[in-house]
Amino acid sequence: MTNVLFDALTATAPGRLWLETHDGRRLTYGDLYTLTGQMAQVLVEAGVRPGDRVASNVEKSPEALALYLAVVRTGAVFLPLNTAYTAAELAYFLGDADPVLFVTDPSRVAEAEGLAAATRGGCRVLTLGTDGQAGSLLTAAMGRRAAFETVSRGPDDLAAILYTSGTTGRSKGAMLSHRNLLSNALLLKDHWRFTADDVLLHALPIYHTHGLFVASNILALAGGSMIFLPRFEAGAVLDALPRATTMMGVPTFYTRLVREPRFNRETTGHLRLMISGSAPLLAQTHAEVEGLTGHRVLERYGMTETNMNTSNPYEGPRIAGTVGPPLPGVELRLTDPETGAVLPVGEIGMIEVRGENVFRGYWRQPEKTAAEFRTDGFFITGDLGVIGHDGYVTIVGRGKDLIITGGFNVYPKEVEEAIDALPGVIESAVIGLQHPDFGEGVTAVVVASPAAGLSEKGIIAALESQLAAFKRPKRVLLVESLPRNAMGKVQKAQLRDRYAGLYSG
Ligand code: AMP
Repeated sequence: MTNVLFDALTATAPGRLWLETHDGRRLTYGDLYTLTGQMAQVLVEAGVRPGDRVASNVEKSPEALALYLAVVRTGAVFLPLNTAYTAAELAYFLGDADPVLFVTDPSRVAEAEGLAAATRGGCRVLTLGTDGQAGSLLTAAMGRRAAFETVSRGPDDLAAILYTSGTTGRSKGAMLSHRNLLSNALLLKDHWRFTADDVLLHALPIYHTHGLFVASNILALAGGSMIFLPRFEAGAVLDALPRATTMMGVPTFYTRLVREPRFNRETTGHLRLMISGSAPLLAQTHAEVEGLTGHRVLERYGMTETNMNTSNPYEGPRIAGTVGPPLPGVELRLTDPETGAVLPVGEIGMIEVRGENVFRGYWRQPEKTAAEFRTDGFFITGDLGVIGHDGYVTIVGRGKDLIITGGFNVYPKEVEEAIDALPGVIESAVIGLQHPDFGEGVTAVVVASPAAGLSEKGIIAALESQLAAFKRPKRVLLVESLPRNAMGKVQKAQLRDRYAGLYSG
């Protein structure tokens, strides 16, 4: 039996170290393999069949990462969800993806049972905890033998669905096949020269493509190990850095680290590579990191739907402010966003990509899928960019108005809808403004009826039960009216200019 992704990710000798945690636990690749077999048995007993979705909304832990591989091993489809999501948000994902099993943190089991009961297909609930709270999934798994007959899966079978925020305020599930994930991890491993000697400092969340696939898939393919931290916390990262050979981060990691006196040549002396992605790294941060440590950060560009598309080179110039040339095997072109005509080098246009890395479409959304692919198979990313004569790509903006705050994507529309639903609000416009810590700060410009007596604090508090913390506005500005063009469209660019310095003072 072959299972394309699982077999490749578990080919390392069992005695080798897979990861060590912040509290000193050390798990080998043999431990990982055993855990996936034990968990897979529990999953099958809970009714998981090949092609079924298994939703996971649990805190980061080695077992949470093993769950991803256990799901793939059963032939099912892994569906990770951000633990910051509210019950209302989770209800949407469960309703849309129709999972047969929902794995949740023990502290949220009552809520999860309620959500599962409301789904069409009658979803089961199991729990997986951290810090000594094993939960029902792991407790059951511990009683099982290691042997499990891996379910056969081919390259075009789905391995995961990751939800991306939608421009219309509704998230879409990006369907990723075994081939999509494996081909990209293989080429990144080679491109960035990962080997069994590597130790990756892993402080990213594991419900997003960056920490889940880019980081952990590459290391598993290379047979290297990870220092697995529950989250980014500058002190813990600096404690671990001297033992790491590589680090992957979002730009916020680097903007925070450069403020730390311990971030210097000594603590980073053992590192061979620092990688940044998920949002633009300021050229200034790039220069500050180099000044303090001597390392030139390698910036790359990708997205949930496409895995990684471009990367600055390992050898050769890493140019600040660019995301480098397309990766080998990834075709990238720039087109006129209106006509789709391919543009010559040097002109700004819509970035389109094609290759084994590109996803299989949006879950149960054939029209949306069709709208985002050209007939020749190129995917329209929604990012605007330009290609230089050296072949390097620079991202110049986002056609879709996405806000990226601390590495997380926030689509204004979703936040606007939540604000507009509050009593007394007439309308709102949500924009991203440059923020020294988060890259961009979610900012709401709100028109309210004076009689309602709404305040900035009141609006932020009212959104608490509606939106995950990272989506809530950092500031709410109450105004009398929104600027509009002749067609009635709100002029967000004008708002961004007007409030540009809001977070810099
Ligand atoms: P996600 O699907 O959450 O990974 O978000 C993907 C989006 O993040 C892309 O479409 C880009 O807009 C943005 N992005 C990712 N990496 C970079 C980068 N290095 N520079 C600028 N934007 C980036």
